[in-house]
Amino acid sequence: MDDCIFCRIARGEIPATKVYDDEYVVAFRDINPLAPKHVVIIPRRHVDSLNQLDRLNENEQLALLHACRTVAQAEGITESGYRVAINCGDDAGQTVHHLHVHVLGGGKLSVNMA
Ligand code: AMP
Ligand code: ZN
Repeated sequence: MDDCIFCRIARGEIPATKVYDDEYVVAFRDINPLAPKHVVIIPRRHVDSLNQLDRLNENEQLALLHACRTVAQAEGITESGYRVAINCGDDAGQTVHHLHVHVLGGGKLSVNMA
């Protein structure tokens, strides 16, 4: 998608602080962190949201999940704990319409998930 901000980050057209990438996914620091460690993981290939997960192949789908663990290890939060979250659609407050997974940690997180 030409004008999708996360596609542009994946292509390296706009700067982001990347913490991990492989052939399927890119992970970078959230520009407006909600926790001491806040990383966003995206599939390189554009899909709008989790509703379109089946448009990604199984390698891409699994890569998203594995990247959560890899990022947590890289951020040093596997033992202290972290949250993985996906906002899907308006009610969840999804603002960027390219599927992404939030990894949050580095401090005590709110127990309020809603
Ligand atoms: P969501 O509300 O789940 O759609 O999350 C979108 C996230 O993307 C927000 O936490 C934003 O702070 C983050 N974000 C938006 N633009 C950028 C950017 N250029 N670089 C890094 N993070 C971004
Ligand atoms: Zn995109």
